[in-house]
Parts: sequence; C-alpha cells; structure tokens
Amino acid sequence: MTLATGYRATTTPGQVERFDFERRALRPDDVEVRITHCGVCHTDLHALGGSAEGRGDVPLVPGHEFVGEVAAIGPDVTRFVVGDPVAVGNIVDSCGECRMCLAGHENMCVDFPTLTYGGRDRIDGTPTLGGWSSSYVVRESFVYHRPAGLDPAAVAPLMCAGITVWEPLRSWNVGAGTRVGVVGLGGLGHLAVKLAVALGAEVTVFTRTADKADDARALGAHRVVVSKDEADMAAAGDSLDLVLDCAPAQHDLGPYLRTLDLDGTLVTLGYLGAASVDAMDLLRARRRLASTGSGSLARTQELLDFCGEHGIVAAVEVLPSAQVGTALARLAAGDVRYRFTLDMGDLG
Ligand code: ZN
Ligand code: ZN
Repeated sequence: MTLATGYRATTTPGQVERFDFERRALRPDDVEVRITHCGVCHTDLHALGGSAEGRGDVPLVPGHEFVGEVAAIGPDVTRFVVGDPVAVGNIVDSCGECRMCLAGHENMCVDFPTLTYGGRDRIDGTPTLGGWSSSYVVRESFVYHRPAGLDPAAVAPLMCAGITVWEPLRSWNVGAGTRVGVVGLGGLGHLAVKLAVALGAEVTVFTRTADKADDARALGAHRVVVSKDEADMAAAGDSLDLVLDCAPAQHDLGPYLRTLDLDGTLVTLGYLGAASVDAMDLLRARRRLASTGSGSLARTQELLDFCGEHGIVAAVEVLPSAQVGTALARLAAGDVRYRFTLDMGDLG
C-alpha cells in the first residue's frame, strides 16, 4: 500500500476536503505515478455538484487528466522505468477481450472502460479515486509517455480535453485544407483550434460574443463567426466539412448543422444530453450528426507525440492544489482561459 493525500467530495455539493488514503499495493503490471499536476474539467464540476447521498462510504476524488513521474513499477512492467515522465487520462482499464478492445478502441469497450475516478477496479472491485491527489496506481497499458520538453502543467489538460477533440479530428481525417468549425472557445475548444490548425485545417470559430474573436485568431483561427449574429451565421452556411461542438450546455444544434457542406459532420463533444434535430437540416447536403468520447490507447499516445513535435500545449492557469475551491467556482462561472491545472506540490 502507498499512502496518498488528495481531495474528496464532502456532503456539501461542490465542496472538497483534503484527506489521507491508501493506494493499492502494486500488482505485477502496475505503475505508481507521483502526480505533479492535474487539470480541472467540467466533468469534475458535474461529479461534485451531484447528489451528496452515499458519499460517506465511497469517497469521490475527482481529477482525470494528470501528469507526473513514475515512482515505482511492478515486476512485469516493461515500458517504463522509475523517473519516466508520464501522463494518465480519463480511462485506466478496459476488458481487453471484446470486439472494440480487440480492434484497438479501448475507449468504446463493450464492457465499459474503467474510469479514472467514480469507476470500479476490474480486479478487486474497489472504487477508483482520481488524480486530485499525490499519487495514482494504474496498469502500465493505460500510462502514456509524456514529451519531456513540454511544460507538464500545460500537458495535463491534453489527457481529457485534448484527446476529446483529437479523436474526432483524426477519425474524420482532418488534414491540409479541411474546413473545420469549432463551437465554444473553452478548455476543449481552444485545443481543438490549436490541433486543427497544426493539422493544416482552415479553422472557423463560433463564439457567442465578439469579445473572444481576438483570442480565437491568436490561437490560429482563420475566421470567427458570432453565433448570435443571424446574418453572420447565414453567411457561414454550407461552408464546413466538420464541426466540433464543444459548448458545455444544452443548445440548438440546427444553426451549426446548417453550416455544414455536402457530407459534413457535426460532432457533439461538450454537452452529452438529449438534443432535438430537424431532419431537414440533415437531408439538405446529406449532413451527419455524431459524437465521440475520449480516445484509444494508440490515439492518446499519438496525440502526446504530435504535441511534442509541434510544441502544442493547453493554455493553463496553474493554482496550488489547496486553491481547488477557487478553480471550481471560477470554472462554474466560465472564468478561465482556458483550463485550470492544480499544482500538487503542496500536498507534500
Ligand atoms: Zn474531463
Ligand atoms: Zn473491452
């Protein structure tokens, strides 16, 4: 067992408190990661904002995009040695045997992938506790090599926000000249712009107000459309091949579907609830509506390697982990450009 320190939900929704707990003893194929930084994601907000019921027995420790160094390895670990710079994302295991896993789509495991927190360990059934903590123990297959030349605090968000947008960019073969739209310039959206630009795409950003237009251009966007401006939206009609919808709240998909050209696809990433669609918006130009979640092992490592080659990281505001409450409150208010990362150095 390894003693860890972290932050767990309290009985008051939205609040966390520091506590000590034990990580499991290393199994033969386990890696222990000493966590240096972990991002703050909308999923964490939702998890902490839910019902307080039952939290006494099963601690909820958020955090599923973290980086650090290998602190210890089990005897069967072959891909890492102590001291390696590593990263872990929002999935820490899968069944390894279903048709999805066998085809290299671990994120779509039919038996459901094991989530980094709020899940259950596949072997001993214990609840998984997340990365807002000093260490984590995880099978080596779900640990990634982290480019050492990049700022670790700014790499952490690549592991959830980054892979969430990289998966569709790669699945829809975005490359030179692909016309890509990005809805919402937050944690996901700003990385979607950077990555799409680096892949050679022509990038359009949709923003509700004009005040983010300069930011969008600074990130590399070629065109900015103010979504509240009906004339601006109409002018953008039938102009895109792929739109990544990163807005975190429920909204009308119609206006964005109508910006797609022939066979174009709208991928919803930020809001994963019910949505109504006018089939006429699909019929015209044979448009498609899709969604994706996280990414496979291979694609996640590919993202980190690509970011290492191109010098791409998230734009982060780094706070000591003790200020996690501030990060949560400001994220809830939309007051962050573009991702909070917690520095775990103060956990000792
Ligand atoms: Zn996340
Ligand atoms: Zn599986």
